[in-house]
Amino acid sequence: MTTKADVIRQAHACGFADIGFTTVAPFDAHRQQLNERQADYGWVARMGLNLMRGSDPLAVMPEARTLIVLIEPYLRHRFPRRLEAHFGRCYLDDDRITKKGLAVRFKAFRGWLRDRGIASKSGMHMPHRAAAARAGLGSLGKNCLFYSRKAVRQGSWILPLTLLVDQSFAPDAPSFQMGCPDWCRNACVAACPTRALKGDGTLDPRRCISYLSYYGEGLTPRALREPMGLYVYGCDRCQDVCPRNAPWLALDLPVHPEAAVLEADFTLEQLLHMDQEYFKSRIWPRMFYMPAEQIWRWRMNAARAMGNTRDDRYVDDLARAAEDTAVDERVRAMAVWALGRIGGARADAVLARLRPAAAGLVLEEFAQSDKGRG
Ligand code: SF4
Ligand code: SF4
Repeated sequence: MTTKADVIRQAHACGFADIGFTTVAPFDAHRQQLNERQADYGWVARMGLNLMRGSDPLAVMPEARTLIVLIEPYLRHRFPRRLEAHFGRCYLDDDRITKKGLAVRFKAFRGWLRDRGIASKSGMHMPHRAAAARAGLGSLGKNCLFYSRKAVRQGSWILPLTLLVDQSFAPDAPSFQMGCPDWCRNACVAACPTRALKGDGTLDPRRCISYLSYYGEGLTPRALREPMGLYVYGCDRCQDVCPRNAPWLALDLPVHPEAAVLEADFTLEQLLHMDQEYFKSRIWPRMFYMPAEQIWRWRMNAARAMGNTRDDRYVDDLARAAEDTAVDERVRAMAVWALGRIGGARADAVLARLRPAAAGLVLEEFAQSDKGRG
């Protein structure tokens, strides 16, 4: 008979930083929240994610007896500053498509269970942070993230992974408490540029830069463009400012082995001009929330980030995108905005050249910026 201690040992042998056990009872509070906050979370269903089903472990695996939660630190390496400025760190090291690291270890762990007669099913669409709290693995933060009790010096740079198994193991004591110290004056709430964090441990996902960068609809509203800053995909600001994360951020972590490849492939210039082939071969395997038909959003995000750098070395690239009528008009409109944000003689000259032929969203962009000036 495989014991809980055996499973814990194996989880560590497979490289996971921590492991907890909980029951397969439904996540009632999470279900209630999904029901009450339809306006906030309705988009999730439209994206094909069935969070309601995931909130009932037995709907996912009827024969399940225990929910295991594994803690995987995702910030074991550092990335060049230029990458961290534009991309959330968890996306820079996401191998769900390439299946090179974490996927191999997760599979090995499941294989070890299978060899002992224990069937398992990955808890896709489950409330991972709520599961980690119920399995006693740490505490919550007002930035809506889960802080580990052990890994990454008790920081939030972790992914809780859920796995349902058909054997009973004694559940661990839950840890639902908010772990933020009284002296922290809600640094995360104050730092959130788009005011997504409400301060009570909840957030409006539709205002969060992460959501806006990969799921936001249409041309990004003008009011959000500056607050979204340099981020192209994801956002780490509420984690970067958190004093609970300072101990881990202070470490000199080794450089990620693929940092150079990432840095070469994910430049703003390449993202702005990329074609489908480049997207499918270099970008999508690493950051896959936007399908190929939404390549325009990547390009629009790159244009916005260029504008927010206020660096006139991007003027020629933005001009090229704005002038090419084959380019999606949302990208062209954002390029016009970005040129205005960079400003200066060169950008102004491009805008003057573009203005007479402007139409549709591009024309609207000119009208809006005229209004802003007037
Ligand atoms: S990830 Fe960024 S936008 Fe989202 S809540 Fe945190 S600071 Fe705000
Ligand atoms: S910044 Fe402060 S309030 Fe926000 S999660 Fe960290 S400790 Fe908690």
